[in-house]
This record gives sequence, C-alpha cells and structure tokens, in this order.
Amino acid sequence: MTASLNPTFQRRSLDHLVTVLALLTAVCLASASRSHAAADGTEAKVVEAPPTSSANPFYITNRAPLLPGPLLKLPIGSIVPKGWLRHQLELEAQGFTGHLEEISKWCRFETNAWTDPQGQGHSGWEELPYWLKGYGDLGYVLKDETIIAHARKWIDAVLASQGPDGWFGPRSLQTSLEGKPDLWPHMVMCNVLQSFYEFTGDQRVLPLLTKYFRWVNMQQSKNFGAGYWPKVRAGDSLETIYWLYNRTGDTWLLDLAKRIHEHMQDWTSGVHDWHNVNISQGFREPGVYYLQAREDQFLRAAEHNYQTVMGRYGQFPGGGFAGDENCRPGFGDPRQGFETCGIVEFMHSFEMLTKISGNPLWADRCEEIAFNSLPASLTADLKALHYLTCPNQVQDDKNNKSPGIQNRGTMFSYSPFEVYRCCQHNVSHGWPYYAEELWLATGDRGLCASLYAASEVTAKVGEGAKVTVSEETDYPFSDRVTFRISAAQPARFPLYLRLPRWCLEASVKINGKAVPLKAKPIAYAVLDRTWRDGDSITLQLLMRVSVRRWEKNNYSASVDYGPLSFSLKIGERWSRCGGTDAWPEFEVFPTTPWNYGLVLDQKNPAKAFKLVRNPGPLAAQPFAPDAAPLELRARAKKIPAWKQDSLGLVGKLQPSPVKSTTPNDTITLIPMGAARLRVTAFPVIGTGKDAREWKATDQLTEK
Ligand SMILES: [Zn+2]
Repeated sequence: MTASLNPTFQRRSLDHLVTVLALLTAVCLASASRSHAAADGTEAKVVEAPPTSSANPFYITNRAPLLPGPLLKLPIGSIVPKGWLRHQLELEAQGFTGHLEEISKWCRFETNAWTDPQGQGHSGWEELPYWLKGYGDLGYVLKDETIIAHARKWIDAVLASQGPDGWFGPRSLQTSLEGKPDLWPHMVMCNVLQSFYEFTGDQRVLPLLTKYFRWVNMQQSKNFGAGYWPKVRAGDSLETIYWLYNRTGDTWLLDLAKRIHEHMQDWTSGVHDWHNVNISQGFREPGVYYLQAREDQFLRAAEHNYQTVMGRYGQFPGGGFAGDENCRPGFGDPRQGFETCGIVEFMHSFEMLTKISGNPLWADRCEEIAFNSLPASLTADLKALHYLTCPNQVQDDKNNKSPGIQNRGTMFSYSPFEVYRCCQHNVSHGWPYYAEELWLATGDRGLCASLYAASEVTAKVGEGAKVTVSEETDYPFSDRVTFRISAAQPARFPLYLRLPRWCLEASVKINGKAVPLKAKPIAYAVLDRTWRDGDSITLQLLMRVSVRRWEKNNYSASVDYGPLSFSLKIGERWSRCGGTDAWPEFEVFPTTPWNYGLVLDQKNPAKAFKLVRNPGPLAAQPFAPDAAPLELRARAKKIPAWKQDSLGLVGKLQPSPVKSTTPNDTITLIPMGAARLRVTAFPVIGTGKDAREWKATDQLTEK
C-alpha cells in the first residue's frame, strides 16, 4: 500500500481486483506474465493464482463434481513450525490451553456428555469441542506425545459414543431446540475428528462421520434453519461434508450439502446477522458452497460480505472489526472491540478461502489479523486472555464498559477462567491451524509458501519425489525469507511464493543469482525448475513504513510496516485482580501518557517515522513490549482534552486535523500485537484553518 492511500479507493480497487481474479482463475492462467527461462533452466513467472487442477495425485483434491482447488492442505504433520511461531505453540501448551482440563469445568472427563457411551452427563455443548479442536491440533503440529495422548483419550471416548442411529456425543442435543436438534456443537466436534483422521488415518473416523451425516440427512430440511447458532453457522457443516465426500465419494452427501445451504441462514445475498463470531464464520459460506455450485457469484458473495462488514465496522487497523458483541450502527470507533473467538474464526475462514480461491489476498488478511490482533488478545505467556481486543484500548480493567461496548460485565482484564467461557476454549485453534497452513500443495504438483514463518515442510512433488524445504526467516519482523531444498534426487516442480499486497518491490535469488521477475502485489512468484539438493532461494519482500488515513473514522491515521501495524507504546502496570497463584488474573493500567496526535509531514506522511531495529537475535516471544524487535519513533503532540470516559474507555476520536499547543514530543510505537495497551488509530495534529479544538466530553453521554 502507498502512503495516504485512501481506504475507500483501496476497497473499490480491491473489489474490482477480486472480480478480475475470479474470472482469471476460472478461465486459465493465460494472463500470467510471460515466463522467463534462465540459463539454468528456471522458468520464472508471476501469476494471480495457481491453476485449478485435480492433477495432484499425492494429496486429497476435490472430487468431481466439486470444483478442483488451486491449493491443497498438506496432511497435518507435514509442516514443522519453527521460530517465534513454534514458541507461541509451546507457550500455548504451557498456558491455559494446555491445562484446560485442570481449569475448566467443561473439560472434566468424568461423566462428560461428550465421552459417556450413552451421551449422558454434563457439559454437552460447544465448550469441550471448542477446546479439543485446537488442543488436538496443538499436539499434532508440535508432535507433543503427551498432548496427543491426552487428546486421544477424549477422541477415543467420543468415537465410542455413537449409537445405532448414527448420533454420537450428547443425546440431549437431539431435541434441545424446542424438540429439534441443535447441530452446532457437532460442527465443531467434526473438525476435531477431521484433524485426528488427517494426522492418524484412524479407520473409525470416516464410518462414524458417514453414519452421523446419514442421521443428519434424515432430518427435514427446515431443521437446518432451526435455532440461532446452528442456522447461522451451518456453513461449517459444508466444509466437513465436502471433506468427507472427497474421501468416500458418497454422492448423497452433496445432496445434503445443497439442502443445508438452501435452508440455513442466507449469506449469499449479503450480511443479515451482525454477531461478530457469526460473521467471522458465516461470511465465507457462499465461498465454500461455490465448490459445489460452480458459479463465480458465490465466491464473489463471500468477498462482498467481507467488504460490507469491513467497510462499515473495520475502519481501523488490526484486521478485525467492531463487534462487541454485535456490530452496532454508530459504534465503529477504534475503541470498539473484536471478540477473541471472532479473531480465530476469521483466521480460519481466511485460510479456507485461500485454498478455495487461490487468491493470495485471503492469506494477507489472515496474516494481518494473526500478527496484529491475536497476540494482543492473550498475555505474552499465553496464560490468560481477554474477550475484547480494540485498536485503541488504554486500560484493561475488569469493570463494566456497557453501553460504550455492548456487553455488560468484565471484558478487558486478562483471565484464564470461565469469565470468557467461549473464547477460553475456542482460542485453542488459532495458532495450530495457522501453522498447518504455512505451506500448501498446488494442483500442478508443486508447493506454495502461503503464510511466511520459519518452518520445514516435507511433501511429494513433481513425479512423486519427496522433498524437504526449510524456511528460515524472522518474518514479519524481517523482510527476507530464505528457503533451502533437500532432495535425494533432483526433482522438477513449481515453487509458488506469495507476494503480499503491501509489497511493491519483491525480488528473488536462486543460489545467489537474481531471477528476472516482474513482481507485483497480490500475486505469486512461480519458480519452476529441476531443484537439486542444497539449492537455496532468497526472497526479499521490501517493507516500507506507510500511513493509512481512515476517512470514516474522523480521518485518523495509522502506521504500518509491511504486514505489521504499530501502536503507541504505553507503560503498563499489571495488577493482580483474582485467580490463583498458578493462574492469576490481571488488570493492566497505563503509567505513561497516551493522548497523542501524530505530527505528520503533509506531503510524505511516512517520512515522519524512524524505524529502529533492536539489535540481537529475535526474542523467543517477540509479542511483548520490551521484546519488540522493531520500533518506530514518531513526532506527536499531546491533546490534553482527550481523556478516558467515566467507564475507563478511551475517548472516541474526533475529527482530524486537531489543534494542539503543547510542545512536540518524540513517541515510540511498537507492533500492535506486542501492545496490551495501545493507541493504533491516531488523531492527526494540524495547524491550518481546518484544525479543530478537541471538545472535552464524557463519552458515556455520546452515542
Ligand atoms: Zn468467544
């Protein structure tokens, strides 16, 4: 993105771009830039998406009549995450996710309705499957035998709970919606079983899921529109049904998927439900159904839903939107929050749509929210989380913030306990699923580096050779990524490298020699050649400081460097407010001023920022204020009338430019994900006629 790029313009051009991409993908790759064949036989080109093809025999592709996918998930375990991402996973294992059986009453094994052979007992709803969904995958991606064994204890019991009718797990759910079944918790448990199967190949899973969906298939169609959560989220079933169909070929599954699509919440004609987590899951539904419908309008509908939500409620940095609990007209300020469940479900949706469409923009969106919002929703040790993460959030106390935010009660302080019941369990899949999507197979028997992080992938390519690619990088804290090939025999295959939307200059070297390539944002560089053991590829994704202005939020300004958004570094005082010594709860209070407006260079806003790279190796946990690898220095002035309101919320933004007579200060910005207290969308200081006084006001009385 360029400095001062108007978000309205950006959105319109992205809309156009997505339309074009969909057409391109559907037709072929005729528009790919001409490939350059180098002297060493490398064919290098830039494409908007990998070709849709079912010609990859090594991995599960969509079975006809479903549309073939351009990008395919590799079996869980193929990718070994390293670097800071591995450390997040290790911290997650040591944190509350790894110990939820000790902390959460919903994760007590004894007499649990999910594990009882007759499905009788306690906790028969979403919490246990939410937790197990990420907990199992955490074990698989870390290859942590203790976690794998613990998860398996639960999964074995779930698999043994199926009755002759096909239903498994809690029997009460069969009739809990005024006599109709509540199908929602099973959608989550199906994800648990899918991952378990991908990792183990356990022979019990496909028959169990087939029998279960036979039971679902006996339901009257109107039951798919029953209840609130199951009706709105039934798109989650489609993904599981296609997953199962691709493995069994049972065509009745597609008839079932069509009936569910036609009777669930309509997400094809726009957004009609404004609950933040429902949106984060539901918006993608037409994009998933596109595989079966085979019409571009469905893929476009998912993009349109995203644009609708972000255009109204996502007018600030961080990759999320204002939904605390629902989106509310008049509440789009960056002080509004996004639920942690929303963050991880948005990531999951973006991961799915990346594979379905091949459009790298979805991977950009995934990185944006993963780097900027997910880490801030958790304490740096991953031993506690909060419910709502806001781009502007200067105090995390436990007191009620309603009606400033919609939910009453504690939403901001950090806790590992049931005060945040859904998020406490559901956050588990955020980082493990992310780690499973770093690398994808391509329809044309290649490999794609989709989400960049230090890692190692082993996969079959080309004519069936097994290769390992190790990826070394501190990305997103560095703009250089190095890949090394290990292969027993030379193997020809295409290697796809994602070119992010913010990267205006990318370059590639193979074994130290520059590859001629017309790189452009929102595309892939494709390097097709016979790769040999020891080959190395260096990808440089030039990062620049850039400033975004948010017209719909009072012309506020935010600062990015590559995929990272930056926040004011605010001194933090952590104060224990409950919990146990092993699992404490904390409030966080500011110890330094936060009410700054940025002093920008009008002609070149990005020029006002100085990037400081902290020396030494990357900290194991870089998402902490004092370990932040990158800082920005900026000029700013205090706005004395900008205060917290009587609820403790940061005051709403007022129109920029803003007058200030205070002296210039130099402030420090750190990556948003490292800041548990932050201002990320700033007022801009002005001196001209258009500059306004900041009005003193108690925001509580404002709409
Ligand atoms: Zn939640």
